[in-house]
Amino acid sequence: MTGRADALRLDAQDPLRDRRERFHLPEGVIYLDGNSLGPLPKETSGRLQRVLDAEWGQGLIRSWNTAGWIDMPLRVGDKIGRLLGAAPGQVVVADSTSVNLFKVLAAALALRPDRTVVVSESGNFPTDLYMAQGLAGLLGGRPALRLVERHSLAEAIGPDVAAVMLTQVDYRTGDMLDMAATTRLVHEAGALAIWDLAHSAGAVPVDLDSAGADFAVGCGYKYLNGGPGAPAFVYVAERHIPAFRNPLSGWMGHAAPFRFETGFTPAPDIRRALCGTPPILAVAALEAGVDELLQVDMVALRAKSLSLVRLFRTLVAERCPAVSLAGPAEAEACGSQVSLRHSQGYAVMQALIARGVIGDFRAPDLMRFGFAPLYVSHADVFDAVGVLADLLDTGTWDRPEFHRRAAVT
Ligand SMILES: *Cc1c(COP(=O)(O)O)cnc(C)c1O
Repeated sequence: MTGRADALRLDAQDPLRDRRERFHLPEGVIYLDGNSLGPLPKETSGRLQRVLDAEWGQGLIRSWNTAGWIDMPLRVGDKIGRLLGAAPGQVVVADSTSVNLFKVLAAALALRPDRTVVVSESGNFPTDLYMAQGLAGLLGGRPALRLVERHSLAEAIGPDVAAVMLTQVDYRTGDMLDMAATTRLVHEAGALAIWDLAHSAGAVPVDLDSAGADFAVGCGYKYLNGGPGAPAFVYVAERHIPAFRNPLSGWMGHAAPFRFETGFTPAPDIRRALCGTPPILAVAALEAGVDELLQVDMVALRAKSLSLVRLFRTLVAERCPAVSLAGPAEAEACGSQVSLRHSQGYAVMQALIARGVIGDFRAPDLMRFGFAPLYVSHADVFDAVGVLADLLDTGTWDRPEFHRRAAVT
């Protein structure tokens, strides 16, 4: 049996152990939901206060120039690019992941005018599929969505496929696709690869440029710790920028927004992926969150993430026979999360939250636990499994209040 001393020993050797104090984490809470909403970095409030007082309060409209507001989507985009193996000038902060999916799907279809199909996974995050459906409604049925299981892509990608839209780390099970190998498969069929990095960015090493990815999108509020509803990012590979047609051709994507011309001419660079005015307060908070990740090595981050995931899996196998593991058998084939199945997973998760262990629930039966290496310790993992084992052994999760469904699960 694995003991708490084993967890403490792993923490003592953890090169990232000094990162935790850089986040606000309430007393008595073990936070295993950074994959849904990252916690508040301590630097963020000071940063926002300066933007509020000096830049907005004193600088007023001048701050678009003097405080560099107008370039913030590019500056923060390049910082996110460093986490994703993207050379500067290919990532911009804009809108939401859903909206950015719409842009890259439309742009990909325009680059493959003789092809009609977009392949995606039947288990993809629903908004990805919904955005493709919305686009098809607008374009008279193009793209036709072809949905397959994520590990049976090869048969589905034929000469009629314009693009393949995949989420690298499955939001339900944590299953992680090999980006380079999958992109190669997509390119061999003449299609374009669109990657959703919602559960990859800031969680696992990503190498968009060397994988040859065409387009990518992802969230700012998950592992990037940008705050609730933080703006998202979009990556367009440099070779596609000149032909990238943003269907949401707002003035911030224009070559010269302040010439106020009647006709739309796209910016020559990644700015063409922008639409309207950037939300400066939200971008400033996102930058503070991204800066936390830029201070650490992504390889060390992944090593700790795997160590946490392995410890959690081992402890659950030892102490929680009432649940089963969802997703890959090998920890290395996962992102930074573990999901457990239990027929009453919703109630068990509510009981866990009531005891200070915060994860989340995804229908029909998955309890999801995220292990963000910047602030989760091995001792947290040990203590969380202790609470889970106690709830399951005693049956104390089975109370009416834990079965009551809230709007957000
Ligand atoms: C969280 C998540 C989203 C969320 O999209 P929003 O537009 O930010 O609401 C999209 N795709 C995946 C795979 C996600 O996990």
